[in-house]
Amino acid sequence: MSAPDESAERERRAAALLHHRASTLAPGESTTTPLVSSTTFHLPPGDPETFYYGRADTPVWQAVEAELAILEGAPTVLFPSGMAAISAVLLSQLEAGSTILIPSDGYYATRRLASRVLERFGVTVRECATAAFADADVDGVDLVFVETPSNPGLDVCDLAVVTERAHAAGAIVVADNTTSTALLQRPLEHGVDLVVAADTKAPSGHSDVLAGHVASRDAERLERVREWRGLGGAIAGPFEAWLLQRGLATLELRLERMCRTALAVAEALVDHPRVSGLRYPGLPGHPGHAIAARQMSAFGTLVGFELADAAAAARFVERCPLLVSATSFGGVHSSAERRARWGDAVADGFVRLSVGCEPTATLVDAVLGALDDG
Ligand SMILES: *Cc1c(COP(=O)(O)O)cnc(C)c1O
Repeated sequence: MSAPDESAERERRAAALLHHRASTLAPGESTTTPLVSSTTFHLPPGDPETFYYGRADTPVWQAVEAELAILEGAPTVLFPSGMAAISAVLLSQLEAGSTILIPSDGYYATRRLASRVLERFGVTVRECATAAFADADVDGVDLVFVETPSNPGLDVCDLAVVTERAHAAGAIVVADNTTSTALLQRPLEHGVDLVVAADTKAPSGHSDVLAGHVASRDAERLERVREWRGLGGAIAGPFEAWLLQRGLATLELRLERMCRTALAVAEALVDHPRVSGLRYPGLPGHPGHAIAARQMSAFGTLVGFELADAAAAARFVERCPLLVSATSFGGVHSSAERRARWGDAVADGFVRLSVGCEPTATLVDAVLGALDDG
């Protein structure tokens, strides 16, 4: 398992998040975050010292950003989706002539953003498999973009090693922390310069809001991200931001169940005759297990495995009464999908299973039952 001090630290942050607002209350104020939808704020003559316009800053964003900052251990900037956060970082930190290294097996929209947009603006895009990132050639690279565990293959790379080598070569490091969340893994502690994450997944947790954020201890770089948000205009609506902070209140509780169940599902599949290519960073047989155990305080909510072919994978998801056939992950309902449908470089029968909040033994039984029926 993970280092005990990282678990204690996780619990401290979860409790601090729950009591953050309470610690600031004046008599008569609401204990929960008010949903303020105003686009304008009283603006007397002179330089604005506080809120003035809804594209610049809002009270609900500040409430969410303060809670995310507790999880990240650094200031954060809220975005309306994970991709808005990722594109804001790339477009605010790169320039024509820059070279970026991205994972060849990472989130497909990030790869497409690089090849279809960044290249048009004169950015050179190089790729490397996640598991090989610690040995990647970073000569001439300006920005190293890592994703660990990667989506969908759940490969792992050592953030401290990647960062040390990148910094020595003069590059900055950006980590997509979506599959772990800031509660389970804190890339900034390993020297990473900027963290991006899709809060659409476990942080909001109920499959009913898209959101994302950027976190950094580098004030200048984060200011460029904040400026880009105001100019690009990709901003979270107040209700979406409010839903995210509501979800964050139960993140630790949900993740505890979900990670425990994900490990139980993975362990139940280890010797299953119909399953091959099983992937879960918490299994000792995973090639990145030792690294994951060092840098994550639990191993996440995603399990990957291969069934015989596309038809067997589709049949499995259809037959399991506790799996919704749907994309995305991190919601309270377990779901699964065949990733090859999106063109990911995985086997036709590869299933990415997103473990939800169902009781552990009930979900394990349902998964095994659907495999045996097949
Ligand atoms: C889902 C996801 C994203 C994009 O998030 P959206 O909120 O859908 O824009 C980015 N990176 C990873 C690893 C993801 O899983």
